[in-house]
Amino acid sequence: MSDFVHLVCPHCQAVNRIPAQRLEQHPNCGKCHQALFTGHPVEFTQASFDKHLKHNDVPLLVDFWAPWCGPCKAMAPAFAQAATILEPRARLAKVNTDSEQGLGARYLIRSIPTLILFSGGREVARQAGSMGTQDIVRWVQSTNTTH
Ligand SMILES: [Zn+2]
Repeated sequence: MSDFVHLVCPHCQAVNRIPAQRLEQHPNCGKCHQALFTGHPVEFTQASFDKHLKHNDVPLLVDFWAPWCGPCKAMAPAFAQAATILEPRARLAKVNTDSEQGLGARYLIRSIPTLILFSGGREVARQAGSMGTQDIVRWVQSTNTTH
């Protein structure tokens, strides 16, 4: 990782450039002054997804889900728990494939829940099916993108 990291604010979508050593110190957004990491997955629309995908220097872990999907609901608490462990080394987010059908189509989501890990704007790994907190954390750490 270089001396500075770019982080997109989950509240106002501003691109922040912060010293890498400040990443672990609960940095706030320079524009809206809210926390850049809240310990909760961020709900993405297509517009915010594209901005985060393009401008974040930390890996992006996205849960593709839908409100009618039982296994998705079952996994939601585990995914939220994983956010408290993986942040700020990764950004965790959710995409509702019902309201954001363009994203579901773009990434050929055939079953939900599907987790996709992005790094440097590209998909690096994906996993379909419900997972527990430790499985999610181990899977992300095993991809070697969160160092
Ligand atoms: Zn902000």
